[in-house]
Amino acid sequence: MTNGETITHDVIIVGAGLAGSWAAMVAAQEGVKDIGVLSKIHPLRSHSGAAQGGIAAALNNIRPVADTGPRGPLEPVPPGDDPVDSWELHMFDTIKGSDWLGDQAAIEIMVKEAPGIIYQYEHMGCVFSRLSDGRIAQRRFGGHSAPRANYSKDFTGHVLLHTIHEQALRHGVKFYSEWYCLDLIIEDNVCRGIVAMEILSGKIVTMRAKAVMFGTGGYGRAYKITSNALANTGDGVAIAYNAGIPLMDMEFVQFHPTGLYRHGILMSEACRGEGGYLTNSESDRFMENYAPDKMELAPRDLVSRSEQTEIDEGRGIGPDGQGIYLDLRHLGQEKILDRLPQIRELAIDFVGVDPIENPIPIQPTAHYSMGGIPTDENGQVTCDAEGTSVVGFYAAGECACVSVHGANRLGTNSLLEASLFGKRAGQSIARFVKDGAVLQPLPGDPAERNRKRIQILFGKEGAESVEAIAQDLKTNMTDYCGIYRDAENLTVAETEIHELRARFEKARIMDKSSRFNTDLLATIEAEHLLSFSEVIVTGALARTESRGAHSRTDYQARDDENWLKHTLAHKGDEGPALSYKPVQIFWDRYPPQERKY
Ligand SMILES: Cc1cc2nc3c(=O)[nH]c(=O)nc-3n(C[C@H](O)[C@H](O)[C@H](O)COP(=O)(O)OP(=O)(O)OC[C@H]3O[C@@H](n4cnc5c(N)ncnc54)[C@H](O)[C@@H]3O)c2cc1C
Repeated sequence: MTNGETITHDVIIVGAGLAGSWAAMVAAQEGVKDIGVLSKIHPLRSHSGAAQGGIAAALNNIRPVADTGPRGPLEPVPPGDDPVDSWELHMFDTIKGSDWLGDQAAIEIMVKEAPGIIYQYEHMGCVFSRLSDGRIAQRRFGGHSAPRANYSKDFTGHVLLHTIHEQALRHGVKFYSEWYCLDLIIEDNVCRGIVAMEILSGKIVTMRAKAVMFGTGGYGRAYKITSNALANTGDGVAIAYNAGIPLMDMEFVQFHPTGLYRHGILMSEACRGEGGYLTNSESDRFMENYAPDKMELAPRDLVSRSEQTEIDEGRGIGPDGQGIYLDLRHLGQEKILDRLPQIRELAIDFVGVDPIENPIPIQPTAHYSMGGIPTDENGQVTCDAEGTSVVGFYAAGECACVSVHGANRLGTNSLLEASLFGKRAGQSIARFVKDGAVLQPLPGDPAERNRKRIQILFGKEGAESVEAIAQDLKTNMTDYCGIYRDAENLTVAETEIHELRARFEKARIMDKSSRFNTDLLATIEAEHLLSFSEVIVTGALARTESRGAHSRTDYQARDDENWLKHTLAHKGDEGPALSYKPVQIFWDRYPPQERKY
């Protein structure tokens, strides 16, 4: 319903990727009639659609041929044979991958419900790649001890997202395409709606709802080299943080080992899952020295660090020595064309290399945000170590931290997480609305507050462009808060962010028009990047240990005694105020161990 400058729905979901679309579809299926989903880009351009390699679930369709080693050929599991994979194994791999920082009850839910999600996709008509007997095909992925990545060639996210979007439309969900969420309205710990801008007209409206959910995705765009889409600027985490919600475990940023050299565009882990090699300038398969058992299929944090060490020690490739080779040639033309067609096209288009003929130059690329808005297993946002709920506010997918990935995510667990916890959020939102949730009164005029904020941005008269500041931030994060970190560099990063913020205060927006003003959007996004980047750096500086993707050269060991805990960062007057909360561990089943591959 539209009333002047206010739009009202029962439920408003920001984000049309897998998390947001699953939540919308499920809430609609469960009887909530009036759901609006906002996306700042066309819903089908959400980054979920760019996912390549697969979605995890222990379906037991395929297994390694006996006695051929961890990288030997795979064969279909004959019906009736003993299973090789199980949710228990998936659970252990995920906990070990997380370097014991994942919350184990949430992980248990995810791995147990994973096969159900895949079959639900299948029943909705999702086009998976198949084995010759018709079962869903599966491939290996890093850190998983069985082949459990279910896929559709190398464009898995595309088929999953189209399937769910179609179903959400079918259930009457209203999509606001190219609408930008500016603000979250929370008072007395109760969420009352959002403020959004219709990008086409520049109109700013208050959107009231009984429940709001964020499925706003990740923030790889805080780094210079990233696999992430332009839209992945972490708006949701910044907006929530500015509205008083703490952010959890933000210091854990995943660097994917295989981004295209100098571009960062992803060369899916499926390349290594299908048997690809990593080699250095001396043609050595250097992973032998770092993970002799798993080799190229060790988890991402370890492989990216190994590559970076090779590069730092002078064995990198390319004119600046900052690259590594991903060699697929031995897979042969047929397999590359059948399983990795998009990868081949990307390599040809962007670096002029046909992987059938030559190795692909790659380098580590910022890829995934393990941290985010803290939630429970039903997508309910919490705001402290005790788990106090923010009434009516939900989050799922990459912007949320439930936490199933802990300090390092395993490949294929993210599409699973976004789908499953999006679904669970949709279910709990439906319960909340049907149990009699009401529209809450608004504090003042939130839309007007945001109009004034934008007027202030338009009024700045400095000489510098916002773009220059955003670029400097990305360089700063890459150089001083990247794969390897130490106190000295992190302190530089922190000081630099303060200086960038001072420069931002004076920077000028060139385009002052109202219609489709991308300069204004870039400015708001730069403000978001600055605010959560400070949280990443502050959390990283405080955490004096190495765990998963957070690798401190001045504190190289994992320190369970002092650091087996989640970081919470509240926005304070003097920057992020850190506190900590315990990790949920089943001590009798999965106690912390040394992590070796
Ligand atoms: C290249 C690539 C390949 C990947 N491959 C895999 C894989 O094979 N397997 C795997 O498990 N994971 C993979 N991942 C990770 C996985 O795709 C993502 O973590 C997951 O899809 C995130 O889903 P999401 O729904 O949380 O967010 P997204 O799909 O990123 O959607 C975010 C949504 O929020 C909207 N939004 C954001 N800010 C605003 C705002 N201010 N106002 C309005 N709307 C807003 C966007 O428009 C978008 O609709 C890959 C990631 C990348 C980058």
